[in-house]
Amino acid sequence: MENHTLPMVQIDFGIIDHETSERLSKLIAVAVCPICNSKTIILKEGEKTIVRPICHEKFADLIGITMNSHHIDKYAVDIRGKIINVFTLLEKFIDEIIRRKSFDSEADYDKYVNIFLRGEMTMKVKMQLFEICIAKYEKAHQVKCDGLLDSLNAIIDKRNHLVHWTVDTSKQGVEFFLNKNKIRFIFFDKKDKRHEECFDNDSAHKLEGSIKKLTFDVITIFKDMKK
Ligand SMILES: [Zn+2]
Repeated sequence: MENHTLPMVQIDFGIIDHETSERLSKLIAVAVCPICNSKTIILKEGEKTIVRPICHEKFADLIGITMNSHHIDKYAVDIRGKIINVFTLLEKFIDEIIRRKSFDSEADYDKYVNIFLRGEMTMKVKMQLFEICIAKYEKAHQVKCDGLLDSLNAIIDKRNHLVHWTVDTSKQGVEFFLNKNKIRFIFFDKKDKRHEECFDNDSAHKLEGSIKKLTFDVITIFKDMKK
């Protein structure tokens, strides 16, 4: 390395947490320059973590991109976790309402529970049953649940995107993340059309709030049904 004639660059990671530091150490242990096969090292300068000497820009890019995708992944885990977590209670009460209101006989109810326990019922199917339950409820109680199903369907869509779509960790995705501090969840449909949905902490927090509000509405209906 000492005889390297190219200008050396370094990457300054600033102050990083323990997990990121471990991650970086592992990466540096195996990373070699894609152009000349040189290795690099991690240095501590006070609190700061620096990787050097790096011989080629491409090598620096490679390490930078790998670490940034790690940050994106962590951010994505936080956002996904938050939404999935808060959604479980809403889904539980949707299930309860369907259980109590969908079937007239116990045999039918048992059949339904069997399907349920095997986890074969998608949210789409549940929502069709739930719609019937809500219609029955509206009729029996002389009330209108305006907008409830639309709001629920919109939230289920968003939740599904968060659960099933992949995080964009491409070079563009990383740049987008660094510039806007937002994560892009992407999906290519059967016609290869690209769909995307962006999230940051704020929008995830808003979605979490909407889910909580809907959960409250659904629980209120559930309690009302039992009267
Ligand atoms: Zn090199």
